[in-house]
Amino acid sequence: MATHRELIAANVARIRERIAAAAQAAGRDPAEIKLVAVSKYVDAATAALLVDAGCRSFGEARPQQLWEKAAAPELAGVEWHLIGRLQRNKIRRTLPLAALIHSVDSERLLAAINDEAATLGITSRVLLEVNSSGDATKQGFTAEEVRALLPMIPNYAHLEVGGLMTMASLDGDDAVAQANFAALRTLRDELARNSPSNVTLPELSMGMSGDFEIAIAEGATLVRVGSSLFEGLLP
Ligand SMILES: *Cc1c(COP(=O)(O)O)cnc(C)c1O
Repeated sequence: MATHRELIAANVARIRERIAAAAQAAGRDPAEIKLVAVSKYVDAATAALLVDAGCRSFGEARPQQLWEKAAAPELAGVEWHLIGRLQRNKIRRTLPLAALIHSVDSERLLAAINDEAATLGITSRVLLEVNSSGDATKQGFTAEEVRALLPMIPNYAHLEVGGLMTMASLDGDDAVAQANFAALRTLRDELARNSPSNVTLPELSMGMSGDFEIAIAEGATLVRVGSSLFEGLLP
């Protein structure tokens, strides 16, 4: 029987091959696409097997779990991404640990992160989460809200807004996911044309285990893959 280490190494290799193939099919350089390994399903010891398999960027959906894993010695040196909800009272502890916060979904949160970053004397990298599917259950700005926010971004001196993030509709098929991802890219292109000169929005965080190849075809630069990395391990 394969060990957990072997299973994860094989899963990571397969995902990387699929990322490379999807990039190639889209005429893109695979090096433009970062795999964010979503470790929320497993403990630090199991996540460390991903490090052994070459993963360097990890995503957690809950701030508290990000803090815990970031403190685990076996995960030292990993780059942490927060991909889920950030509550205001968790900002201070999260900012020094997170290389990128994918999930800023209100101007209030953007302002609060900027204030804390100023207090800490750092610049925080964030993405704006867009509800591209219109699902009532999804977080995120509408396209209209992001357009309105764009001219304000330079006021937040301690933030680097690097781009946009979205999730495809939960109950949609591949065609719906593709439409959601295309909408995010189109919005980003429009914003980049109209943005203040120091706001370039290079990043598109989109695509999970079920739809990352579609997202790459539509321009994803960050794919957030969790369950496919643990196939054979998780129930
Ligand atoms: C859990 C999660 C993922 C990973 O989803 P999988 O389908 O397990 O690959 C990606 N993005 C967000 C925001 C998540 O919460």
